[in-house]
Amino acid sequence: GLKCGIIGLPNVGKSTLFNILTKGNSAVANFPFCTIKPNIGIAPVFDQRLSKLAQIISPKKITHAFIEFIDIAGLVKGASKGEGLGNQFLSNIREADAIVHVIRCFKDDNITHIYNDIRPLQDVDIINTELILSDFDTCEKAILQLQKKTKNTNHETEKKMNVLKKCISHLKKCLMLKILDLNTDEKEIISDLRLLSLKPTMYIANINEDKASYCFLQDLNKLAKKEDAVVIPIYANLELELINMNTEEKKSFMHEFNITNSGLNNIIQNSYKLLNLITFFTAGEKEIRAWEILNGSTSLQAAHKIHSDFSKGFIRAQIIKYLDFIKYKSEVKIREIGRFKTEGKNYQIQDGDIVHFLFNI
Ligand code: GDP
Repeated sequence: GLKCGIIGLPNVGKSTLFNILTKGNSAVANFPFCTIKPNIGIAPVFDQRLSKLAQIISPKKITHAFIEFIDIAGLVKGASKGEGLGNQFLSNIREADAIVHVIRCFKDDNITHIYNDIRPLQDVDIINTELILSDFDTCEKAILQLQKKTKNTNHETEKKMNVLKKCISHLKKCLMLKILDLNTDEKEIISDLRLLSLKPTMYIANINEDKASYCFLQDLNKLAKKEDAVVIPIYANLELELINMNTEEKKSFMHEFNITNSGLNNIIQNSYKLLNLITFFTAGEKEIRAWEILNGSTSLQAAHKIHSDFSKGFIRAQIIKYLDFIKYKSEVKIREIGRFKTEGKNYQIQDGDIVHFLFNI
């Protein structure tokens, strides 16, 4: 599956966020490098459409789509040169398909900040610089390899060499590859390198309910705007307490701390977008289920996602649009008005398709 890697300096709230996203139990401790092995957890993607469908079908079971989060231990200055547990962290980030970058915007004298001050913009810069340095190394190595391997250059290697050189001169200015103008073709040529500063990213401002936090948040918003990235504020510590409360307790707790809505759902929805996922549904009396799939996938790929046998014996896919089903509430009616579609294996799945696969085993 596609994964979001949670990154940031030590003690900024990464594990706390990971826990509230996945309700896992990884140890949360006031200690840099507490998270040595990356933890992988699963977060359900809340989708109101499921409950709307359930009102019509009354299934025994409802299953949400989900995404994976990796809790990657804290990155520090010099990671690209092997500082801290540098190289290991960087290779964990390489595995991630998108990045959730947590920034500490809360003051708390009991919790050490690795550089002894709360200064979000510099913190972001430290992390992004490590990503840039690591990418610089990766590109240089790739260039060397190309030069070694191909004594007589062909069109392909020349093309790759040009893209790599373009990246190198951009990275030299200490800029993220995300803001380099690369076309789809150029991105494809270097996709095997899984370059870190090219990954889609969102910023999470871990705030307290004080004025200083809100100022930091504004600084981050300005910075993110330049990259076309989103910033999502979250009260990680408070949210952690919310997890084990019932609805009533939650209500009064949120009122007491003046929190209007939880940032969690926001983070999950945005991660889904960053990963370029869309949702299709399967619906029956036993189960209604939402499935996450890469935007642009075909019905054959969707079938494979459900079961490999489905794709082997694939015959066709029957498609009902979510909005049609909500409006007409019955397959018969939808067939009558001609909006029930039968599609082949190359049909491109659309967000909200309710799919029924026909297959041979
Ligand atoms: P990580 O090293 O980035 O994974 O950070 P952790 O999630 O382990 O958090 C480090 C410490 O900071 C823990 O003691 C947390 O309880 C605390 N912490 C996390 N978020 C907040 C917050 O929003 N406010 C305060 N005051 N403390 C927090």
